[in-house]
Amino acid sequence: MTDVSIIKTTYIKPEIERLLKPLGGMGRFIEKGDRVLLKVNLLSPSEPEKAVTTHPEFVRAVVREVKKAGGSPFIGDSPIGRFSRRNLKKIYRMTGIEEMAREEQISLNYDTGTKRLSISGGTILKQSPICSYAFNADKIIALPKLKTHSFQYMTLACKVMYGIVPGLTKVKYHALFPRRAGFADILLDIYLLLKPSLIIMDGILGMEGEGPGGGGDPVELGLALASTDAVAMDISVCRMIGIEPVGIPVLKRAKIRRLWPEKIEYPLLRPEDNPIKGFRLPNTALHLLTGNNASNIGPVITDRCIGCGECEKICPKGAVTVVDRLARVMYSKCIRCLCCHEICPERAIKPGKIP
Ligand code: SF4
Ligand code: SF4
Repeated sequence: MTDVSIIKTTYIKPEIERLLKPLGGMGRFIEKGDRVLLKVNLLSPSEPEKAVTTHPEFVRAVVREVKKAGGSPFIGDSPIGRFSRRNLKKIYRMTGIEEMAREEQISLNYDTGTKRLSISGGTILKQSPICSYAFNADKIIALPKLKTHSFQYMTLACKVMYGIVPGLTKVKYHALFPRRAGFADILLDIYLLLKPSLIIMDGILGMEGEGPGGGGDPVELGLALASTDAVAMDISVCRMIGIEPVGIPVLKRAKIRRLWPEKIEYPLLRPEDNPIKGFRLPNTALHLLTGNNASNIGPVITDRCIGCGECEKICPKGAVTVVDRLARVMYSKCIRCLCCHEICPERAIKPGKIP
């Protein structure tokens, strides 16, 4: 069972203590004297009100909680472009992070060193350059921003750790893995390599439309979420927006890789009681809102099926059953996510015109 704590809040008083209380408070995650990396989202130089980056007042509230628990927080990210001191300086200044850090007397990362780490559980990446600031910390707390993303549809908790990959390598991975599924696997490979102890999402001023950069539109949501599990958190955001979580590539890959939590508990607000009404997805993802799941293309079972039942286990809608050692799909329940197609070890499910 995984807890996702959700509150309605503001930047004037983000109430991080109240948010973390059901999870055991900040003291559960850090020990006295820990150097704690606050892995923010600093995608590009942009003012806080544009909602491209984690808001400095949100970060300030987390900084204070970490200090109260005896930790020593510092801030780091590898933004878009060259991972250089000059770039970092510009981004810290424009995003309001520099001023906040000066006022709170905490340090900002300027170490641009990297090291190639092996990724034992990686499905696509077996190794990758990783920024030193990330693996030199005692603990990591990730502070993602709730935003849309034209390529991956949403950029939430699963994606925030991608910023521990140096900027130009990130660009290279985009070019090498242009397909949504492959790129989503890279995001999960990196997330699992240095999994944060805690994730606290800034959804107070979110982004809708053509995110994740300046093309998106800020939207007042007044939300903060906390969890130890990025997948559970992202599923929860999808539930609030009213879209099928498996429609988001990284969540679909997480489902196939069996990274979905068995059960999610909501000790405070529940997503179904707090829908985000009228949230605008990027144009690439409109089918998720309309329910028009790629017309009548769906999973077609072929005679290669041996009845192993893997598709039945993975299906998020209970639309597949194995009868007499043959899988059958109930198309009225099927949302055309094709998780079954991806998991089938016999390549017995083809995407095609459904009967
Ligand atoms: S996973 Fe493939 S082989 Fe196994 S039951 Fe489903 S369709 Fe058949
Ligand atoms: S495509 Fe349909 S049958 Fe296959 S996993 Fe998705 S919902 Fe289930």
